[in-house]
Amino acid sequence: MPELPEVETVRRDMHEHLLGCKILDIEIKNDACIKCPDTATFIAALKGKTFTDTGREGKYLRLFLDDESTLTVHLRMTGRIIYTPSTTPHREHTHIIFKLSDGAELRYSDTRRFGCLWWQQKGEEDCTGAQNLGLEPLDESFCAEYLIKTLGKRKMPVKSAILDQRAVAGLGNIYADEVLFISGISPTRPAADISTEEWQRLAENMRSVLLDAIENRGTTFSDFLDGEGKIGSNQHFLRVYGKKHQPCPTCNTELQYQKVGGRGTVHCPNCQK
Ligand SMILES: [Zn+2]
Repeated sequence: MPELPEVETVRRDMHEHLLGCKILDIEIKNDACIKCPDTATFIAALKGKTFTDTGREGKYLRLFLDDESTLTVHLRMTGRIIYTPSTTPHREHTHIIFKLSDGAELRYSDTRRFGCLWWQQKGEEDCTGAQNLGLEPLDESFCAEYLIKTLGKRKMPVKSAILDQRAVAGLGNIYADEVLFISGISPTRPAADISTEEWQRLAENMRSVLLDAIENRGTTFSDFLDGEGKIGSNQHFLRVYGKKHQPCPTCNTELQYQKVGGRGTVHCPNCQK
């Protein structure tokens, strides 16, 4: 599932390719992913508009247009948004095709169809859910004190706590397991039992894990492709995620797999206290 580094990788690709491109036409094969407004308005609003800038909030991708409206995309599980020559054969489950003035196409595909697109005028109330996001670890003001203030009293497992997008925006299952491993903290410990020094470790490691993953252009575990349709390389650098019953990279103890708050979780019972 795309998390902050994957969405940031896509945003950078969109920024490189889309700025200055005008949307000449929009072909919709399946409109279930268009959450707002209705499909006819969506097409009428975007046709003829030119991309002027890009942004990202947590896992939300923002594409800004020359009338100051915004196209927002959330890839959820298997969504992909790819800038591609119009001659490239269509992938399965391609739902929306934006035909661009430079001759290329921007294609949205989604196998499991949980992804969402929204178009909003300037000043319109944000209906995407992005307004409820907490700080993201790459934000300048993100720090241990912030984590203690937002999560420090929660009785839920620390892994579930740091996955709460209203507290930590952009972190998902892959990077949460990695951060907890590097921090030497068991995923099942109640958030309320984490010490100040441990929150400091968590804050620092969230930052470094996400920055490293952006550097590696995201993790392609099963579905993720970047904005040009290429796989990332961060999967080669994962320490524990997806490695259940394999030896711990630090101590060789067998890594344990369990569900924590309903999410598959891998940790080392020796290194993580
Ligand atoms: Zn270990």
